[in-house]
Amino acid sequence: MIVKNSRLARILKVNGIVLYPFIFLAPADPDPVLLNHELIHWAQIRRHGVIRFYYLYLKEYVAMRGQGMKHDDAYRGISFEREAYENAHNLAYLTSSAPSSRT
Ligand SMILES: [Zn+2]
Repeated sequence: MIVKNSRLARILKVNGIVLYPFIFLAPADPDPVLLNHELIHWAQIRRHGVIRFYYLYLKEYVAMRGQGMKHDDAYRGISFEREAYENAHNLAYLTSSAPSSRT
């Protein structure tokens, strides 16, 4: 379920966040690239499973912070974020070239 004009997203100071099964977007009329970025995360969750996705996401972030990286660099370095940022502008990514679900 996609929630636009999300107060939660604004409180968390993010443009968008996936808290499966919800996608919270701060804008009332979100940019397609932002929506695609969050939908890529949605697909990643479907690919890995909810618990494994968030575990791996936090594990990578904490490991990079532990190596002394700043928040923004660690966040951008998470493999899930790299896939989402590298492919968000390709609005056909999820229907064409994304790794397929294992289920
Ligand atoms: Zn992201």
